Amino acid sequence: MMPSRPTSSTEKNLLQTRQRIYLDHAATSWPKADGVTDAMVEFLSNVGSSASRGSYASALKASELVRSLRFKLAQFIHAESDSCISFHSGCTHALNSVIHGLVGSSKAIGDGSHLLVSAIEHNAVIRPILVAAKSGNATVEEVPADKNGLLSADDVISRVNGATRLVALSHVSNVTGAVQPITEIGAAIAEANRSRTESDQILFLCDAAQSLGYLPIDVASLGVHALTAPAHKGCGGPPGIGMLYLSPRWHSAIQPWMQGGTGHDGRSDTMPESMPAKLEPGTMNLPAIAGWLAALESMATSGELNESPNESAALSQRLHVGLNAVDGIKVFGQPGPLPIASLDFGPDLPPDDAAAILDSEFGIEVRSGHHCAARLHRHLGTEAAGTLRISGGHGTTSDQIDAVVAAVSEIAAQITSLA
Ligand code: PMP
Repeated sequence: MMPSRPTSSTEKNLLQTRQRIYLDHAATSWPKADGVTDAMVEFLSNVGSSASRGSYASALKASELVRSLRFKLAQFIHAESDSCISFHSGCTHALNSVIHGLVGSSKAIGDGSHLLVSAIEHNAVIRPILVAAKSGNATVEEVPADKNGLLSADDVISRVNGATRLVALSHVSNVTGAVQPITEIGAAIAEANRSRTESDQILFLCDAAQSLGYLPIDVASLGVHALTAPAHKGCGGPPGIGMLYLSPRWHSAIQPWMQGGTGHDGRSDTMPESMPAKLEPGTMNLPAIAGWLAALESMATSGELNESPNESAALSQRLHVGLNAVDGIKVFGQPGPLPIASLDFGPDLPPDDAAAILDSEFGIEVRSGHHCAARLHRHLGTEAAGTLRISGGHGTTSDQIDAVVAAVSEIAAQITSLA
């Protein structure tokens, strides 16, 4: 008989009492950065008002939080100005806003355009691009990845042609942790743009969902014109808020993907022309904004933001060396700046079952499946069931890495002994 599902109170006790080794930071960070929960509770308890919509003290406080976060993020990624940063309900919403705002029939990247994406892209990139391309009669070309989820800059650059108007790439693969050669590609796109007219420019869009807060990001040196990220991953912030950076060159071209109230020029039937208001309809998620701001502040204080690349790289090395020494499994990814790896135990133990064993027998929480990046699994040979993904983040320790390697080794040995 199947065990009955625990009630929510027993689940709560289980989560509070057992030792959890959380290694699913590529899905979302946990625990959150210091101060995040307090800032959210403080906002809900003592402020509570909407931003940009009132002149009483608590409404001004809410507006100030939005302004402060926008300013901090603009500084953090070296944006030209605060107006380049718009807030969205997450990275997915930010990606949809920039893709549907610029790509499609009667949009800046219109009919007959050639759009370049890669095999490592998350569905939050691929799906809106495919829909927008259909409406604009555009073609979408996919750049393949190698077996570790790494793209070749030369391969990407060689596919850019006269009709190419969008290159959309992730900074870091959420499946293998591979860091892509964005700077090299950005430089080649800048070179191509120099000889193009204003209406023919290529937009370089970078999905930084897996890198913001883990790797230094400077939009100018990366050479990107648009960049998206959520609060809840590398920044240690809450879910429900994300950002889009858009370079000033594209501000007048982008069309609002959604319409609604913005608190600005309420008499007009149309969205404001100015950025970022034209991309920000509706009441903002102020508790999440307060939480993201607190995350950035506390991580900056603790030195965790863009932290100790050496420590994170040492964890990555430890994870990959450890896993590669385990007989009977296939490991995807390579040592790099982030402690992320995917693996496959083979047909006798699908990733979902392996993740359930790691949780129930070892108290280790990792993700299994396709990680919303199904196209990459064609290149890894793991199309059917995906992979088991181990991903550390801020606060991950070498003991936790050793524990997961030992657990994987024990499970692999059991499979071998049963075979
Ligand atoms: N891109 C990548 C590479 C991701 O890993 C994710 C989240 N898994 C997203 C985009 C979408 O982010 P969100 O779900 O926070 O909107």
